[in-house]
Amino acid sequence: METLDGISTGRIDRLFAGIEAFVDPAFDGWTRTVFSPSYRAERSWMTEEFILAGLEGVRVDDFGNIVGILPGRYSDAKPIVIGSHTDTVERGGRFDGIVGVLGALEVAQRIKESGSVLNRPLMVIDFFGEEANPFGLTCLGSRALAGSLTVTDLERVSPEGKRLGDAMQSFGLDPSRAVSGKHPAQGSWHAYLELHIEQSSTLDQTGCNIGVVSAIAGIKRLVGRYMGQYDHAGGARMKTRKDALLAAASSALALHEFACGSPEYAVATTTHIDSLQLAQNVVPGRSELRAELRSTDSAWFGAIEKDLALRLSMRAAEFGCELDVEWFLDNEITHTDATLQETIAAASTSLGLTWTAVPSGATHDSVHMTGIAPMGMIFIPSIDGRSHCPEEFTPKKRHTQRHCGTRKKRPSGR
Ligand SMILES: [Zn+2]
Repeated sequence: METLDGISTGRIDRLFAGIEAFVDPAFDGWTRTVFSPSYRAERSWMTEEFILAGLEGVRVDDFGNIVGILPGRYSDAKPIVIGSHTDTVERGGRFDGIVGVLGALEVAQRIKESGSVLNRPLMVIDFFGEEANPFGLTCLGSRALAGSLTVTDLERVSPEGKRLGDAMQSFGLDPSRAVSGKHPAQGSWHAYLELHIEQSSTLDQTGCNIGVVSAIAGIKRLVGRYMGQYDHAGGARMKTRKDALLAAASSALALHEFACGSPEYAVATTTHIDSLQLAQNVVPGRSELRAELRSTDSAWFGAIEKDLALRLSMRAAEFGCELDVEWFLDNEITHTDATLQETIAAASTSLGLTWTAVPSGATHDSVHMTGIAPMGMIFIPSIDGRSHCPEEFTPKKRHTQRHCGTRKKRPSGR
């Protein structure tokens, strides 16, 4: 039997083998998208695993989340809550979210086996539908639990013309209860902790065992609409053109340079550029650019609209074009709780694990838990930083420390 630091990994190996049976054969990797038959079958299996793990009161809550409790000494004490999600993107990996749920089941069983009883209840959650879906709304279960899912959200329509509310109903959920169910009040949990893969390369490159998450990046998205002039591609001279597609392409480079020049963690991604016309003998007179920016730097994030509007307008003007930019705020920057950061770091050190403070560029269910409880996240390495792909991998064995010289570095507070 393989062991990790002298402890058998047989039980967690069995859980991973079990969940990997529930995949969509139409895709490579470990695909289990929300609302899919493979996800439905997996959730039925997972509910049984919650019971097998010795959790009590196992149920699917009003919001689609699987919940179970390891009772504590004082039943009325605020619970410690741990968990993550088990749905994946198409062509997804084996560990994103899954390690947090299977890890939480293992934690509950280890506590039971140790013979000790926590003062507080330990609640384990497998959140419903965390990943992106055709309805354009992530974190369905955690969002609903936090009371942030709205009646308007239920009216969102997929490209196939299906309503989100109808999709939830077909999946066996009551959409009206998902928006009106009883939400935990602010402060009603003692703490929320989520174990997750890093989905970036800091831990893998430095050889650190544990990432103490300092903050989860805020996300702003923009649509830039460029107005130039349609012209004959053969007749219009180069110096007189107002090429809206070139203005957008130049703006994509400006966005890239803007994020490269940020003082702290920041990324910018241009995802679409469209000339809005098909003829190959026409100078593009209109174009549209879509991009998103993420950062954990409050000052930089707060000034994005003003700073970028100027840069992008200058790029548009270089090509004789005008620009209209529309902004959408997806998430504000979410800071993890400073005391939980210290606790995770101290626990890592006491276990002989190296750690470093890291930002999270990806959004997680934990973002929605900050209104209910102090929130912390524990990252483990992703080999080569790969995630949302079949190559996503996290080894069971701990990393050999290479450049992780930050054991003394304190995690950052708010
Ligand atoms: Zn995830």
